[in-house]
Amino acid sequence: MKLSTKITLGLILGIIVGALLNGFLPGHVGFLDKYILTPIGQAFLHLIQFVVVPLVFTSLLIGFTGLRDSSKVGSYTTKLLLLYIVTSAVSLAIGLLTAFVLKPGQGVSGAGGLEAPKTEKGQNLIDWLVSIIPTNPFQAFAEANLLQVIISAVLIIIGIRLVGDKAKPFIAFSESLHAILEKIIGVILRVAPIGVFALISSVIATQGFDLVKKLALYIIGLLVAILVMMLIYALIILFIKESPSRFFKSFWPAFSIAFGTASSNAALPVALDNAKQGYGLKSDIAGFAIPFGTALKRDGAGILQGFNAIFVAQLFHVDLSPAVIGAIFISAILVSFSTAGVPGAGIIMMTTVLTAAHLPLEGIALVAGVDRITEGFRTMLNVVGNAANAVILNKWEKE
Ligand code: ASP
Repeated sequence: MKLSTKITLGLILGIIVGALLNGFLPGHVGFLDKYILTPIGQAFLHLIQFVVVPLVFTSLLIGFTGLRDSSKVGSYTTKLLLLYIVTSAVSLAIGLLTAFVLKPGQGVSGAGGLEAPKTEKGQNLIDWLVSIIPTNPFQAFAEANLLQVIISAVLIIIGIRLVGDKAKPFIAFSESLHAILEKIIGVILRVAPIGVFALISSVIATQGFDLVKKLALYIIGLLVAILVMMLIYALIILFIKESPSRFFKSFWPAFSIAFGTASSNAALPVALDNAKQGYGLKSDIAGFAIPFGTALKRDGAGILQGFNAIFVAQLFHVDLSPAVIGAIFISAILVSFSTAGVPGAGIIMMTTVLTAAHLPLEGIALVAGVDRITEGFRTMLNVVGNAANAVILNKWEKE
């Protein structure tokens, strides 16, 4: 059986077993989750995270030191940023529109009495730009700060180009490490079906469905917006004369791991493999665009922030003036670029958008309870967007 089929089976079985546990063994769920499902799921997440940082570093290094034309680094970065801004604006507009049309916040009783969970206040743009420059490459590696790892790699690549022959042993070492990591990923992926099974069944088994019923329209609205954006990517791929079905088939292992783990970072090693071996992207484009997108590109997070802000405004009967909508739009795009690729990151960033739009933070407490239900889908869209933009760049470069 193919690996992607096994992972899909793991997901489906996880949903079924989680629902059965939730429905028929509610008294035992706590024990089963604490001692079996969560440890297995977390162990798998740790295993896959083990390869992420060295893999990003070595793929960038191999990709760019192999290139004759060093201006490519700048050209890939500019083109990707342009694509990201346009597609992120589209996804955010879809999130806002869906919330305006479905009105998920009307008729839901407010979050009165609930306290907003502790969330971080986002940085402003200039602070953020400064913060992505690493002061210590080892710290960037140790903290798995992907943007800093990418910038460290670019600086080292510049050094390698300037040094010439003396850098050859370092390049040979990186190539050897990269080959080793690829083999390790192959081994880890053999247990992926069990890992995603444990993660998904844990989510469903421990979910309280009263809140889900109360916020049904919120959940459905988010899922609709995510689906529409995936369809738009399929159309864009068709428009550039590539095959959407080949795209979704080749990247399915990465998409399903994103869904199961709710972490774009965890899906990165698989996405990189799918881009090169599965879809056949040029190796230097895949090696740059996929890590870059994993660090920056989050369509799902943008949709979440826009949709959620309108939901909170409806919940607390706040009038949405054009100035407020503008504040939501700009802050949500920036937040989508700085949301980490780890579970629960989207919720943490909500404060920034709500504060920018002067909306009450108490809404966060209400939606935090159902966030994990939609998070798998939005993380999948994050990876879909990343992969699709890499495919578009590949085509652009070819022409
Ligand atoms: N979990 C998401 C990701 O890893 C981020 C988010 O919460 O939106 O891409």
